[in-house]
Amino acid sequence: MRIDPQKCVACGNCTYVCPMGAIYIDPVIRRATVDRDECVECYACYNGLSQEHLNPTMVRTVRKVFQFFRLRFEPEPDVCPTAAFAPEDLTWPRIVRRAFSDPRVPHESTGVEGRGTEEVKTNDVSGRVQTGEVGFTIEFGRPAVGVRFHEIQKMTMRLAKAGVAFEKKNPITTLLKDETTGEIRDDILDEKIMSAIVEIKVPVERTEEIIRMVWEVEKEVDTVVCLGVGARCDETGRENIVAPILEQLGYHPERAKTNIGLGRITNKPAAEPRTAAEPVTTR
Ligand code: SF4
Ligand code: SF4
Repeated sequence: MRIDPQKCVACGNCTYVCPMGAIYIDPVIRRATVDRDECVECYACYNGLSQEHLNPTMVRTVRKVFQFFRLRFEPEPDVCPTAAFAPEDLTWPRIVRRAFSDPRVPHESTGVEGRGTEEVKTNDVSGRVQTGEVGFTIEFGRPAVGVRFHEIQKMTMRLAKAGVAFEKKNPITTLLKDETTGEIRDDILDEKIMSAIVEIKVPVERTEEIIRMVWEVEKEVDTVVCLGVGARCDETGRENIVAPILEQLGYHPERAKTNIGLGRITNKPAAEPRTAAEPVTTR
């Protein structure tokens, strides 16, 4: 995102809406400026503020006159009075920022908006997590901290070394150079994004091992990390295998969402169609 210095009148409204704190009023040029390295191209500034089309010269003059009389002329707080935002035509690799940060832009790799994955939330039709398996979502950067791919790579490399299966329909998986090493493409490693989710699954016996591994690696990662766990219910609608392991590890698992199995199964081979799936949250 860029701000047109010819149009900006330095009212400061946009500095409050940027979740990354990437907009500041440059004291030298006296205009709002975007720190491009910190900007994740989420478009919250552009979409979150109404754009008025006041004449910048007129607004600056009025503000100066008011200032002379020790008065302030400020636009409404949810408005950019001069429509000063100038979104760029993003190219690779910067465009990856927007894909992971603007929730209205679908990921090309999966066609899903937001973080680009449905996770286990649609397990009743996708059958990602089967009986005897446990699925993990490892989320980076949310809320409002952001993350760079080289930080995510610390986790993917460790998980790959442990021989986990990365979810195919996940945008981070599609950006891995090599699933056996967990390395992410070199050309995006320094790109900063709002948030991302790594998805893996393992046999249920490895639940504790993986959670302990995530605990260890997250200490080395320079952002917030959130762990989600998904498992299938039994025929009575209960989950009595993974939940006790989580409790043993000190979590108090709550049933977050339950898929009731009314959808049409889209993945082959399909899981037992009438079996529900129970994502368990540890957040
Ligand atoms: S809201 Fe618009 S005019 Fe005000 S500081 Fe931001 S870019 Fe400049
Ligand atoms: S696009 Fe998002 S991160 Fe970039 S300046 Fe605007 S609000 Fe901040």
